[in-house]
Amino acid sequence: MTASNPALCGAIRHDWTLPEVQALFALPLLDLLLHAQRVHREHHEPNTVQMSTLLSIKTGACPEDCAYCPQSVRYETGLEPEALMEVAAVRARAEQARAAGATRFCMGAAYRSPKAKDLRVIAAMIREVRALGMETCATLGMLTPEQARELKDAGLDYYNHNLDTSPEFYGEIITTRTYQERLDTLEAVRAADLKVCCGGILGMGESPADRAKLLLTLANLPEHPESVPINQLVQVEGTPLAGSAPLDPFEFIRAIAVARLLMPRSHVRLSAGRTAMSEEMQALCFMAGANSIFYGEKLLTTGNPDVERDRRLFERLGLRAEALAGAADAPARPAAGGGCACAHSHAETAA
Ligand code: SF4
Repeated sequence: MTASNPALCGAIRHDWTLPEVQALFALPLLDLLLHAQRVHREHHEPNTVQMSTLLSIKTGACPEDCAYCPQSVRYETGLEPEALMEVAAVRARAEQARAAGATRFCMGAAYRSPKAKDLRVIAAMIREVRALGMETCATLGMLTPEQARELKDAGLDYYNHNLDTSPEFYGEIITTRTYQERLDTLEAVRAADLKVCCGGILGMGESPADRAKLLLTLANLPEHPESVPINQLVQVEGTPLAGSAPLDPFEFIRAIAVARLLMPRSHVRLSAGRTAMSEEMQALCFMAGANSIFYGEKLLTTGNPDVERDRRLFERLGLRAEALAGAADAPARPAAGGGCACAHSHAETAA
């Protein structure tokens, strides 16, 4: 395969075929990285990474059965459920995240779908975070078109709802909601003119074909998600996926590079599982086209490299934080200190 191959030219397409995607996965790794970085630079500022902070605003006691998730009420993981946070407390955490260099603040709640009274409180949170000049993102489970519009009216920028895996493997991971219900929520989010954050989780025992089909499904959505979080399974004791065979790190890096080639304009986010990755592996992921990270002390319930370690890594790699459009005072590099200490696991995995 050469750079003249249409699959490698960085075109925005929604008609990818499985053989095309599998052929990208099959490239020699260094060729794949080269093409991914070249396409990346056609569409994005090089050496620049968008930084989001994620806060769990309602933790645990979720009725769903996502096999990776410690927040499911069905698994004994020792996680203490927490009620929906107060608006003022969320605002204070957003201020800390902004001071630490995050430009987007993601609020995650462990719901199957939000209730009307909770949605009103979350709308107030969104307005407060927006007033700080940050982008807002929420992950609250399934949404109706009306709920999506309510969030949009409150000033929400992004909604996270992951597909998790391929349609074929999905039933091995979740039985309490269907793949089609996930697609329906994505459609409701788009119809409300919200930006979409949608990706999946690797290392759950899926086959290479499942990884290709997940990325194929994402790339063939009517519009590419603006953010594509690619998570590596965080194995939590007590969940059904604890003890899964770990994924070869190079397979993860390949998936990042293929996501970059299939969705050239999207931000590809190195998401949950970063704690378990070496700094060298993270650098290869950035080379493969990842240009977004979750930044802060914790990702919902699972650990995230601390802010100071990320700051040092950025310095060593010559990376800088992406500024918000029009935000002249956004920091050029991650600042020391601050960040969020959130308590649960939703947007980095699924919603
Ligand atoms: S991933 Fe989300 S929907 Fe699934 S169990 Fe966890 S909190 Fe519930």
